[in-house]
Amino acid sequence: MPKKHNNLWLPYTQMKNVFSPVKAVKTKGSLIYLDNNKSLIDGISSWWTACHGYNHPHMIKKINYQLKRMPHIMFGGIIHDQAETLAHRISKLLPKGLNKVFFSDSGSVSIEVALKIAIQYWINNKEPQKNKFLFFRNAYHGDTSGAMSICDPEEGMHNLFKNYLSNHIMAELPTDSNKEESFNNLVNKYKNKLAGIIVEPLIQCAGGMIVHKPKVLEKISTLSKKNDIPLIFDEIATGFGRTGSMFAFEQTKTIPDIICLGKALTGGTISLAATISSEKIYKSFLNDDESYALMHGPTYMANPLACSAANASLDLFESQPRLKQVKKIENYLSKNLQECLNFKRVTNVSIKGAMGSIHIKNLTSEEIKWFKQRFINKGIWIRPFGNIIYTTPPFIINKKQLQLIVNSMIDCLKEWSSISKF
Ligand SMILES: *Cc1c(COP(=O)(O)O)cnc(C)c1O
Repeated sequence: MPKKHNNLWLPYTQMKNVFSPVKAVKTKGSLIYLDNNKSLIDGISSWWTACHGYNHPHMIKKINYQLKRMPHIMFGGIIHDQAETLAHRISKLLPKGLNKVFFSDSGSVSIEVALKIAIQYWINNKEPQKNKFLFFRNAYHGDTSGAMSICDPEEGMHNLFKNYLSNHIMAELPTDSNKEESFNNLVNKYKNKLAGIIVEPLIQCAGGMIVHKPKVLEKISTLSKKNDIPLIFDEIATGFGRTGSMFAFEQTKTIPDIICLGKALTGGTISLAATISSEKIYKSFLNDDESYALMHGPTYMANPLACSAANASLDLFESQPRLKQVKKIENYLSKNLQECLNFKRVTNVSIKGAMGSIHIKNLTSEEIKWFKQRFINKGIWIRPFGNIIYTTPPFIINKKQLQLIVNSMIDCLKEWSSISKF
């Protein structure tokens, strides 16, 4: 009998042999319930989205209300309360002047929109030769073509497509004086061609959970301001409390010209993303000539259900001690994950807010499979990738659950280091 799931094609998955997927039937709090009557503690918040845990009653109530009233309406020429309110609330959270919100359906698309805004900004300013972007090694900005072209070609999961993508300029993050010099040189060399500089503030996530200091971001910002190059922050992963402040850049003395938000924007319920531009950039699009208008418009743009979810999520950030919970998680991870450094192949343990990562030398896909299964056996949902085993739990996770996650990580490492084949 062919199984129903034979028609599915999963992300980043070799479908040939290993197709015995975990099947979820419901969720609640930090738990994912499976069809075999077992449950898993979600150690990664469904790809860093479910910051309030699952099925939060306030989220459900608000989404339900919107579902009955108006699940969707096209955004071309029609606006609605949920979008207006959300755009207003997002701009209130951001520094003054960063206040023009363009909605889209996913993080990758919000990046595409940021790139198009920067390109068209220069076209509108009669400098169309400025059409290259500077990005950083280990960057990950999404899976669509424009986004792929500004990901690290090796670490960004898109090596196969390099001959198809347009070429941009990769720099090293200026983490020491040598790298700073080469970054400065690159900017000087290309400044007349650069439409923008794009960076993930304070931690490069899918490119390997690599943390950098506020100073690094400040150097990038200083140089971009000096040369009048729009600075784009990708806070799709870091936004909404994950690093300990509402947005990661708040821990630095920098302000972007464009910022992309996604993932936890709707508290892990419905896909929605946003690209927010400065007043200055936005103004270059205002003209009696229609061709100055931004040429982008996703069909489900600003979907009212998704916007209501995002509004409900922001309610919870206002009413609940989310940033304190992140701090508690950070403290716990800092105290308890460090001992992993004692394992031979562990090269680094990095903690930033509610994100804890164990970096392992030459982790093979065989080993990744082994770890995944071991974690499931222990009742934990954790999904190692590249060279890392990491956790990004829901902010509402309780102490006991967090303990279980961390202990499982340590126990699995112990077990793994005692097995000769590894
Ligand atoms: C996840 C992610 C994206 C892409 O978002 P999608 O919603 O998966 O398209 C882009 N940038 C960063 C930093 C991300 O973490």
